[in-house]
Amino acid sequence: MTLSQRDLNVIWHPYTQMKTAKPPIPIVKGEGLYLIDENGNRYMDVVASWWVNIHGHAHPYIAQKVSEQLNTLEHVIFAGFTHPCAVELAERLTQIIPSNQTKIFYSDNGSTAVEVALKMAFQYWYNSGVTKKKVLAFNNSYHGDTFGAMSVSARSAFTNPFESLLFEVEYIDLPTFENLDRLKSQISEQKNQLSSFIFEPLVQGAGGMIMYHPEPLNELIRFCKKQEILIIADEVMTGFGRTGKLFACEYLNEQPDMMCFSKGLTGGTMPMGITSCAESIYERFLSDDKLKTLFHGHSFTANPVACAASLASMDLLLKPETQQQIQLIATKHEKFKQKIEHHPKLKDVRRCGTILAMDWNTNGNTSYFNEVRDKLYEYFLSNGIILRPMGNVLYLLPPYCITAAELDFVYNKIEAALLEI
Ligand SMILES: *Cc1c(COP(=O)(O)O)cnc(C)c1O
Repeated sequence: MTLSQRDLNVIWHPYTQMKTAKPPIPIVKGEGLYLIDENGNRYMDVVASWWVNIHGHAHPYIAQKVSEQLNTLEHVIFAGFTHPCAVELAERLTQIIPSNQTKIFYSDNGSTAVEVALKMAFQYWYNSGVTKKKVLAFNNSYHGDTFGAMSVSARSAFTNPFESLLFEVEYIDLPTFENLDRLKSQISEQKNQLSSFIFEPLVQGAGGMIMYHPEPLNELIRFCKKQEILIIADEVMTGFGRTGKLFACEYLNEQPDMMCFSKGLTGGTMPMGITSCAESIYERFLSDDKLKTLFHGHSFTANPVACAASLASMDLLLKPETQQQIQLIATKHEKFKQKIEHHPKLKDVRRCGTILAMDWNTNGNTSYFNEVRDKLYEYFLSNGIILRPMGNVLYLLPPYCITAAELDFVYNKIEAALLEI
């Protein structure tokens, strides 16, 4: 039996209709930009394996640091105990995220990082003796698949089966200078109920790589702060260089109360989530009353191997060579954007930092919409490129190790697809 057949006997894959899905491609090795299957075929991983792999696959430096950690301390309970990697990572991360963020809470993935932020926000008000049950979020948002994270994400076909179980959210449009007044009055009507405002700064990832400007967002955050709404920046996707700066919040003047991190945090090596918060949030849980404690944790909270991977990934990220690579990708994306943006088959070619996205024209026909997605996916795959469109949205989110020649190869294939599909 092949690996794919054995897989289908025992495995249920994420986001996959198992009845109709093609057998999964068996990957046996990773090497920088490339994934290699059991027949030796090489694929350019231009989506960074679900946006996590920022330095390329099987990076020798991360592998070495992880291996050293495995041979030193693989795990320790994190209540009542600590370890060097967790402390060093918190110290170093708080040096590079917005300066008001002083405390680090560890968890396992992006969804849990969001759950923790939401629980911090709800309990902040609970500990203050104030009842606020709603959350403010953007239309088309995505914050994860666990119940709280799903609640604050946009309602969609994916959330329909759970609709009646999700808590109440006030949705607003992405801010522009034109609609700001309308958004403000929408918020004012609800302000006594709104505990927090959660958003993906600058780029809504799973919503379709939708991009928006920092200035009106900044204005919206300032307004929410005046209404005593806590600010949660979900940088699970935008963090660690994706938007051209280390964090998307660097484009804002207003600082968030809480931030969520995962995906690129460990360089895509180990699962890990982090929720950071401002001192004022942390202090609201300090009390002689034990019931004001944040009662949240996971078996693998602050896993030392994941912390070691994160420290190694941060070393790589902060190297001048990596920062130059990020700028190179941004510059080349911008040139290619200008080259193709008026193509009749495309709508809204857009870029933010190392993310390039474009909508394939579907003339409003939804069956064609899915057909285009599958055609594009197969087209690039057969050319040795992993590009996984979301509906008609084609996007590039490469690891920072990609070379100029490799980028040109991918751009050329996109131009070929524009001719052929
Ligand atoms: C992917 C993502 C999440 C969820 O992270 P998981 O690790 O998949 O649970 C949350 N927020 C944003 C912005 C994301 O892109």
